[in-house]
Amino acid sequence: EEVVNRIAAGEIVQRPANALKELIENSLDAKSTNIIITVKSGGLKFLQIQDNGTGIRNEDLDIVCERFTTSKLRKYEDLQEISTYGFRGEALASISHIAHLTILTKTAQDKCAYKASYENGKLKGPIKACAGNNGTQITVEDLFYNVVARKGALRSPTEEYTRLMEVVGGYAIHNSQVGFTLKKFSENTDLKTAMKSSVIENVRIIYGNTIARELIEVEILDANLKLSIHGYITNVNYSNKKGILLLFINHRLVDSQAIRKAVDSVYSTYLPKNSHAFVYLSIELDPKNVDVNVHPTKHEVQFLYEEQIVEKIKTCIETKLLGCSS
Ligand code: ADP
Ligand code: MG
Repeated sequence: EEVVNRIAAGEIVQRPANALKELIENSLDAKSTNIIITVKSGGLKFLQIQDNGTGIRNEDLDIVCERFTTSKLRKYEDLQEISTYGFRGEALASISHIAHLTILTKTAQDKCAYKASYENGKLKGPIKACAGNNGTQITVEDLFYNVVARKGALRSPTEEYTRLMEVVGGYAIHNSQVGFTLKKFSENTDLKTAMKSSVIENVRIIYGNTIARELIEVEILDANLKLSIHGYITNVNYSNKKGILLLFINHRLVDSQAIRKAVDSVYSTYLPKNSHAFVYLSIELDPKNVDVNVHPTKHEVQFLYEEQIVEKIKTCIETKLLGCSS
């Protein structure tokens, strides 16, 4: 059974960036306003996230890493109206099956902090009282240490670190009221945004002035589709070869082939060949219209009225780009 759980966990968490995304979403769910991430070896050896959120109640500590343990889903109908990121209680459980997981946490009511370690979904050893600030610190060590059949040896810490940067950068831009810090262990900070910052300021910090200067605001509202989109795009992005598409649907960082293709096709029609843009879209949909059954860490998302929504995004970007060139 342990092996089965481990394989399932390895499918949910395929790389450090998947784990970090879940951990950041937990911190945001816990109403944190400052999140500090420290890593070693691209998160493979050590991945730590410190937040200043609500903390975890002492009585919940012995079960938080069991599968389907969640404080975020009270009744079945809630599934339809989920406003928090998490709702399945699978993230911590999965991570604990493929890494050494330690939680240090303190609620505002607690007199001291508590520390607990986990293995294979279960508490390992006693919960210890210790010193600590309000909030939660989760430490993930030796990720994939017990996952033999994977291409473990081929993972490059540098590449994993780049992916961690992308995740932190994305969430920092989307949650500009929350401060984010990313650093390598005992090295200088690589990325730091302030609390109560702005989207534009954080784009400047993360992607540079060239892009931040060129940002064009986009907004789409459609009551019939129960759709609202807010974001920023650029005319051309000179500095980045790849082009950047930051897509949030109901505040979750996701990918959508349909939207990606639409964005690419507009840019290739209206801009010179090989120009690449920055596109950040925060799409809010009726949760009923987003497929919550897609796996929690599955990046690709499905939603209803995709064709109409994609068409609206296309038209909106087109209009903005034409407005620029005239
Ligand atoms: P989910 O987010 O789907 O509920 P997780 O496995 O991600 O499941 O987390 C399990 C539970 O642990 C959460 O429901 C929450 O109660 C608690 N938790 C996890 N991380 C934090 C955090 N950073 N701050 C406060 N509570 C947390
Ligand atoms: Mg979660």
